[in-house]
Amino acid sequence: MRYPIGSCRDCGERLYEHIEGDYQCLNCNRRYESTEFEMRAA
Ligand SMILES: [Zn+2]
Repeated sequence: MRYPIGSCRDCGERLYEHIEGDYQCLNCNRRYESTEFEMRAA
């Protein structure tokens, strides 16, 4: 399993890349759109 990119805004846990292309916190099962994290350029 790959893990990227940011942390859960609710609990601070690491997010995992979901197979459907978004991201999921395994701790609280919150899902995030991948686009939410693509804008962390600068
Ligand atoms: Zn969480």
